[in-house]
Amino acid sequence: MSEFNPRDTNEGKDKELDGIIRPRELEDFTGQNEIVSNLKVYIQAAKLRGETLDHTLFHGPPGLGKTTLAHIIANEMGVNMKITSGPVLDRPGDLAGLLTSLEEGDVLFIDEIHRLSPEVEEYLYSAMEDFVIDIMIDKGPGARSVRISLNPFTLVGATTRSGLLTAPLRARFGITCPMEYYDTEDLVRIVKRSAGILKVEIDESAAREIAMRSRGTPRICNSLLRRVRDFAQVEGDGRIDLKISKYALDKLHIDTLGLDSIDNKILRTMIEKFKGGPVGANTLATAISEDQGTFEEVYEPFLIKEGFILRTQRGRIATDLAYKHLGIKKGISDENTLF
Ligand code: ADP
Repeated sequence: MSEFNPRDTNEGKDKELDGIIRPRELEDFTGQNEIVSNLKVYIQAAKLRGETLDHTLFHGPPGLGKTTLAHIIANEMGVNMKITSGPVLDRPGDLAGLLTSLEEGDVLFIDEIHRLSPEVEEYLYSAMEDFVIDIMIDKGPGARSVRISLNPFTLVGATTRSGLLTAPLRARFGITCPMEYYDTEDLVRIVKRSAGILKVEIDESAAREIAMRSRGTPRICNSLLRRVRDFAQVEGDGRIDLKISKYALDKLHIDTLGLDSIDNKILRTMIEKFKGGPVGANTLATAISEDQGTFEEVYEPFLIKEGFILRTQRGRIATDLAYKHLGIKKGISDENTLF
């Protein structure tokens, strides 16, 4: 059985709906209040001076609105945006092609910017700083470099792992925005707004239930809303009330605290196989068949924030709350351990 993973990047129909739901203006963007109010000032100031917006970096877990804010910046500045990502730009030539195609003031959005190759990153430095790039022409003794001027542009970078950014790259961003998980009230607003756009009726208590089970993440709350809507249409009368929400969310194995089956697997593995820790991230990731990066970027931050996992020098530890949540008494699980 394929497990429902609400964090998955949606494809097909869901992706289409995502495009419709995505806020287009800062006014529509819920939460991240400090970031939004600062961006308003920076955008207005840049417009008043007739300049491009400073290069901007968004960092934080997936699904919190980094790409959405990049779109909003381009929209509010009244410019076009080109989108690419770190792993796709593997040759300096690819970057040069993109940069030279930008018109004055355009936004270049680079997702997963921590995954740029060092060679490409080096090219970006002069492009960001002085809006020029030096391109090597010919090889061998005849090789020479030609300087090309670029139109001033705004680079918007997004990363889930700001710790992996090199210092020189980080220093070239004038604006840095750390994105936080959303609180329930903000997520309730997002669910209601999305339901309105999807033209589905939803009760306040149902919106709250979906919000509380969304891991503090708008992408997840929209994804859960769409799945609950399916259940409401097929097994209910189309309206989303508390009963059908709870029923659907249980079917999707999202528990009452918003942890999904993978979160629970992580906690259970820590407790049952590693006596609750300390266990290294790499070992734990291997035990749940995930790579370490995904474990650290996608799963762990929320579990730490909610107090299920402690990060210590010696490794990760499952907290009392994790034992309580899984209904396991401390010590009882030890006989099942591997060691
Ligand atoms: P990221 O780039 O951080 O992974 P996205 O910008 O792609 O996240 O956001 C994921 C989805 O969540 C988007 O489709 C968007 O509709 C929704 N979303 C994100 N942030 C907000 C917000 N603050 N208000 C409303 N919807 C949001």
